[in-house]
Order: sequence, then structure tokens, then C-alpha cells
Amino acid sequence: MCDTSKGAHRMEEIMKKKALAFAMAAMMAASLTACGGSSKETTAAQTEAAATEAAESAEDTSTEAEETEAAETEAAGGVLIMATNAEFPPYEYHDGDSIVGIDAEIAAAIAEELGMELEIEDIAFDSIIPEIVSGKADMGLAGMTVTEDRKQSVDFSDTYAKASQMIIVKEDSEIAGPDDLAGVIVGVQLGTTGDIYVSDLEAEGTTVERYNKGFEAVQALSQGKIDAVVIDGEPAKTFVSETEGIKLLDEAFTEEEYAIAVKKGNTELLDKINAALKTLDENGTLDEIVAKYIKAE
Ligand code: GLN
Repeated sequence: MCDTSKGAHRMEEIMKKKALAFAMAAMMAASLTACGGSSKETTAAQTEAAATEAAESAEDTSTEAEETEAAETEAAGGVLIMATNAEFPPYEYHDGDSIVGIDAEIAAAIAEELGMELEIEDIAFDSIIPEIVSGKADMGLAGMTVTEDRKQSVDFSDTYAKASQMIIVKEDSEIAGPDDLAGVIVGVQLGTTGDIYVSDLEAEGTTVERYNKGFEAVQALSQGKIDAVVIDGEPAKTFVSETEGIKLLDEAFTEEEYAIAVKKGNTELLDKINAALKTLDENGTLDEIVAKYIKAE
């Protein structure tokens, strides 16, 4: 991007002292033109227009400078809003009145690194990206898999966990691996990568049942309403351990990676998040958080 803010700011000061000199306007016009990447010749009319624009932009710049300052003050003690779906143990889930889990703790550690206060917004999984796009939330931590499709809507941080989609079936099921999912009824959580990839099997006669919560899919499986559930490995382990009569298949359906989503183009926040993640990785905090929630097998 072309940065004229410093020049414009200097301009503003000069203009406060003197009336707008034609020579300066011509200079500004030339710099504006250069900035736009155009090599067109500057006519007198354009120069005049540029002079007006320069005066206006000098005003704009002072407001912008104030806004940037305000944003910086906010970053040094403001609120960092995390959007998540707290139905995804051990990454995020309810424990009494609080939302706990790996993502919740990573977010808290990032907020601490940034000197900000963390606020967690618990919403439907498929509302997280829209919430970030609209700017209502600053970042999404939700065991969110990086996909090319999602990259069209949001920017992702460096990845912080490896994950996989796993298959849960009844203990006596004949389904033994991903190939056996063709033609059966598979439960998924709406809008997740499990949903996306299993939906590809619809062409092979698979029926996809979409639930708002992963655990609802698991309940439907244990009640015999569906044949299998495809869901992320860690919540799968948690749900299987809490439910009688179901088991996790060994073979993963997909391999994926989790990252933090931010509004597209918000490089300022993204850089801060990545720097914080790096610190938390290097000082062992990330490992500690994971070890607290995922016991080594
Ligand atoms: N990892 C999956 C995805 O990103 C599921 C995440 C979730 O359900 N919270 O789609």
C-alpha cells in the first residue's frame, strides 16, 4: 500500500501556517499521481483538483491519526472478543458458568500477552466466520480447521494443533473404515469439515444428517438413528468415553490443522496473534495447556 500519511501530516502543519501555495499543490499532485502508480502527465486542472484533495486528505489524515491512536490505546488494555462454539471438548466446553478448554486457555494466554481482556462469545459453529467478517468478533478459536474455502472469507494465524476427522460407530458395527461410509447414514456437525467431506459422499448414496452440536450426532448414533458419526478426533474421544456401546475407528477420515481466524486484511491483529503464539510455544505454555486437557496415551 502507498503510505502518504507522514507526508500528508507534514503538509497539514505547513498548511496551518500558510495559505495553500500553488507550488505545493503541484508537488502534492505529482506525489498523488505517483502514488496511484500512474505516470500520466499532470494538467493544470488536475493539479487544482489535487490541491483540493490534498487539503481534504490532510483533514482526513488528522482524524485517521487520532483513530489509530485510539486503536492502539485500546490494544493496550482493550477487549479482545473471541467467537467460539463451546460444544467441542476438550477445545471449548462449558464447565458450570465458565467456558474452558484448550482454545479458551490459549485465547486467554494470547490476551495476556497483548495486554488485553478476553471476552468469549459462544455461538453456533457456522456463525463464527460471519461474526468475524462483520467485525463483531476479533478472532475465532473453535478447533477451526484451515481450509482453502474459509481462506476466501478470513485470514488464519499460524497453525497451533494437528487434528483429524475420525469415525465413530456402534460397537457391533460392520463399518470398519472410511470406505464403508458409502451408502450409509452419517451424522456430522453442521458446517464443519466433517460435514463438508462427508457431503462429498452423497454422490455415492451416503445420507448426511446434520446436527447443531457434535454430541447430538453421537446421541443419535447411540440411539440407532444413524450408522456413523464423523467428527474431530479429540471431541470424538471425549464423546466415546462418555457414551455406552459406541467405538472410535482407528483409521482417520482426514488430517487437518487448527488455526485462529481473524478478519481478512487485519494484519495488525494477525501479526500480534502470531507473535503471541510463538512466545507461548517457545516458553512451553502451549504444551502445558494441551497436556492439561489431553492426557498422553
Ligand atoms: N475442525 C472442524 C472444523 O473446523 C470442527 C470444528 C468444530 O466443530 N468446532 O470444521
